[in-house]
Amino acid sequence: MKKLLLIVAGVLFMTVCLAQNNLPKIIILATGGTIAGTGASADRAAYTAGELPVGDLIAAVPGIDKVARISGEQIANVGSQNMSVEIWIKLNKRINEIFKNKLADGIVITHGTDTQEETAYFLNLTVRYDNPVVLTGSMRPSTAISADGPKNLYDAVTVAASPYSKGRGVLLTFNESIFDGRDAVKTSTTKVNGFAAPNGAPLGQVYDGRVIYYLKAARKANKETPFDITGLATLPKVAVVELFADAPGIGVDAYANGGFDGIVTAGLGNGNLNDANTEAVIRAIKKGIAVCRASRVPTGRVTQFDETDDDKLGTIVSDDLNPQKARILLMLGLTKTKDRKKLQEFFFQY
Ligand code: ASP
Repeated sequence: MKKLLLIVAGVLFMTVCLAQNNLPKIIILATGGTIAGTGASADRAAYTAGELPVGDLIAAVPGIDKVARISGEQIANVGSQNMSVEIWIKLNKRINEIFKNKLADGIVITHGTDTQEETAYFLNLTVRYDNPVVLTGSMRPSTAISADGPKNLYDAVTVAASPYSKGRGVLLTFNESIFDGRDAVKTSTTKVNGFAAPNGAPLGQVYDGRVIYYLKAARKANKETPFDITGLATLPKVAVVELFADAPGIGVDAYANGGFDGIVTAGLGNGNLNDANTEAVIRAIKKGIAVCRASRVPTGRVTQFDETDDDKLGTIVSDDLNPQKARILLMLGLTKTKDRKKLQEFFFQY
């Protein structure tokens, strides 16, 4: 009888081990943010982002080991207001290395929400593999009442482990919605429903351990793009200048004289520039600086030849990218060309 029990226990143990070995392998690359933030009390908002190490983030998610075989790596530990080109290049390099050496089936990146949309778009354009890469974070620190981090991390791992997530570009999962990394925009400063796709919709939903897609990303991503930054130690310098009623051209002039390669204007309405900024933009373009007209308006496209004749002015338009995302594409575009027409083409394709 004792022998029989031992055999049954052994078979059960082996079945569990085999089942675990069949689970997809997911690596979590942690960069900091509120998801790794801690505060002095659960009932007050004050906290510091980027405190907990990746092991603690994983340990806080019950059942995550039943979704995938998980391991974690700490890439950085910053509030994403301090996200930098240096960290982007490091992330990009590690992701491409992981997939090249088949070290994981998918990757989850934990990231602060402030600049998560920028990192998502940057990776969408520069990761060279089709395997799922999913960003997530949280709006509440780990110590808060109803912290949203563990649920978002569980969902992101579920999305990264799903075979349906392959070939969809880099994704951003938040509050049970799955967004195209290009479309996702932070739309609330404090609410847990922190992201939306203002010019479109979420691609799908993750709920109760299930991933459902409704849409495909409209634009090309990953190796369908020409932006291979392997070997680059830095990127062209591009700044964003926001306009307002009666805005002087000081911002544009300062960046143009400060060694920047490109400027994105967060213009008025359909990317409009007032007279002072039109003159500053003409001066910048004369110096060989690429200028892209985006808009401070949260939805819609900036269109060519509407109130502004872009051929005459020498500008390009951001299409439906917001200024911070237009900056990413202009930085990457400038690694390839300075030709205005070719740069413009990138904005209509990616
Ligand atoms: N400032 C934080 C960050 O971006 C906010 C957050 O993560 O929600 O890191």
